[in-house]
Amino acid sequence: PYSLGPAVSDYDARRANWLRDHPGFPAFVAPGRRPRVLMVTGSSPRRCGGSDGGGDHLLLRAFKNKADYCRVHGLDVFYSTAVLDAELSGFWTKLPLLRALMLAHPETELLWWVDSDAVFTDMAFEPPWKKYARHNLVLPGWDDRVYGTRSWLGINAGSFVIRNCQWSLDLLDAWARMGPRGPVRYAYGKVLAQALSDREAYEADDQSALVYLLVTQPDRWKEKTFLESSYDLHGFWVDIVDRYEEMRRNGKPGLGDHRWPLVTHFVGCKPCGGQYASYDAARCRQGMERALNFADDQILGMYGFQHESLNVTAVRRVRSDTGGPLDADDKELARLLHPRFKAA
Ligand code: UDP
Ligand code: MN
Repeated sequence: PYSLGPAVSDYDARRANWLRDHPGFPAFVAPGRRPRVLMVTGSSPRRCGGSDGGGDHLLLRAFKNKADYCRVHGLDVFYSTAVLDAELSGFWTKLPLLRALMLAHPETELLWWVDSDAVFTDMAFEPPWKKYARHNLVLPGWDDRVYGTRSWLGINAGSFVIRNCQWSLDLLDAWARMGPRGPVRYAYGKVLAQALSDREAYEADDQSALVYLLVTQPDRWKEKTFLESSYDLHGFWVDIVDRYEEMRRNGKPGLGDHRWPLVTHFVGCKPCGGQYASYDAARCRQGMERALNFADDQILGMYGFQHESLNVTAVRRVRSDTGGPLDADDKELARLLHPRFKAA
């Protein structure tokens, strides 16, 4: 069968040796020994969004949004515009990318895949890394919908965290076997439709394939996989984008859940256009505009600026410029200007 590359054996010991020999690149960083996290995202090598470049502009702003989030939390970030393995085109391309980055960066403890169409809408919330110490894969999802209902919508593969270890390399291998484009991908689409309760027999997608592994080989994968639903590791945009003003009235950044979602993911929208969009393009675009401005206000606010409204690009000053700049008390979000572990 198809393989992502030569089988890697004994990886955990190899990585431990590397870390021992390179004490300047610890996998856990001070203070609090937080895992070193690499955010991984990307988009197609092709230009996006037709002649007006509208899709590319959205991709630019969605990446600016991730750069903002990574800066204020001290995460590394990698953006790929390459398809590393022609067999694994489209959304499958994240698998060879994650493998290559894992092997090249033994100092990285956790890799966080985030789709290009996912927007960080809570700049203050950081995943509770310690909670995942005994797990190798963290997916937004629900146990009953995966192991009970066997639904392909029981997880979302647009934002997940995976540990740099042998277990994960093995998972990527098993997962990628369903992805080679053409006949194999179509054949597995039928297998997935058989095994899952709510999926038709179209070509295999990475999300269904992952649910398939969890429900058909639980002995192998279940124990080390955490399905997270206590906050929006991925949040479905339709339930979110009309509520930002209400959130501002009732909530505050740092909650990360439906009251102030960590991620607003534009599932079923196609910023680059194309025939597969499930929602009205204008509604998608308006929602993305609002999500991006809502997020940007949390950044701009630290510098004394805000958008005039979530629907427009114009900004205005909201704090008066002062001649005594460092005198003011730290505002709540201002702590993000100086992330603690970066100083260490
Ligand atoms: N992607 C990529 N290269 C590609 C195609 C997709 O890096 O050639 C990434 C991109 O981040 C995208 C994700 O894979 O958001 C999922 O792909 P999908 O086609 O499902 O796009 P979406 O529905 O998220 O727009
Ligand atoms: Mn997506």
